[in-house]
Amino acid sequence: MNRNLRKTIIAGNWKMNMLASDIKAFKDELMPLIPGFKGWCEAVVCTPFVMLPAALCALKETGVGVGAQNMSQHESGAYTGEVSAAQLTDIGTQYVIIGHSERRQYYGETDESVNEKTIAALKTPMIPIVCVGETLEQREEGITNSLVTKQVEIAFKGLTADQAIKTIIAYEPVWAIGTGKTATPEDAQEVCAVIRNVLVTLYDKQTADSMTIQYGGSMNDKNAKDLLAQPDIDGGLIGGASLKPESFAVIINAANQ
Ligand code: PEP
Repeated sequence: MNRNLRKTIIAGNWKMNMLASDIKAFKDELMPLIPGFKGWCEAVVCTPFVMLPAALCALKETGVGVGAQNMSQHESGAYTGEVSAAQLTDIGTQYVIIGHSERRQYYGETDESVNEKTIAALKTPMIPIVCVGETLEQREEGITNSLVTKQVEIAFKGLTADQAIKTIIAYEPVWAIGTGKTATPEDAQEVCAVIRNVLVTLYDKQTADSMTIQYGGSMNDKNAKDLLAQPDIDGGLIGGASLKPESFAVIINAANQ
């Protein structure tokens, strides 16, 4: 394990919250709380599609990146209501979340569609953040490691090592998302280490050591430091705590270790 080879990435997932008109105030509050920001980690906010232009404009020159929360696996065509990777990059979007558990649960996304979307995203300069993780039932059944292994294997099917290195994995136990129940640092570390071993098998040790694996699931200003101190946790995907500049700033500062 060589943590120095990889970037720490703190990404906020705003889900269907906030308004475009809130973003400037968010930025004005956030930036003084992360003085000298640039360098110790990457920070990103992933907003609803319609808010991307306002976020890109407000956050330009702050060092904070902007991402989408979903995209189509199709390049273009008759897909009413969908947004393509090219359309996202055309306006300057830098990241895209793929296969969030809420997309899997409410919109029928599968490991296969996650793979298609990841391949489509990688045809553009965008960085995909691919989400994997088990439900409570799956954890209680004792199949967390095998399930997450399968999710990663399918998501990365057909990806070269060069493409894999550009991709972020977010390990998000479904039972921890939006519930206030965080995985212990040890449990989160265990699964992130399993994921890194899958990457060693799919690619090689150097590739696996270069890839960022985030933890997500009720990460907040109180628990971020301990989670981020784990050797295989290279950042966070944060929902609720990314909506408030004060808590998001504490998490970004916790990555400065
Ligand atoms: C998420 O939306 O990916 C997430 C982890 O949410 P929360 O931090 O609110 O659990």
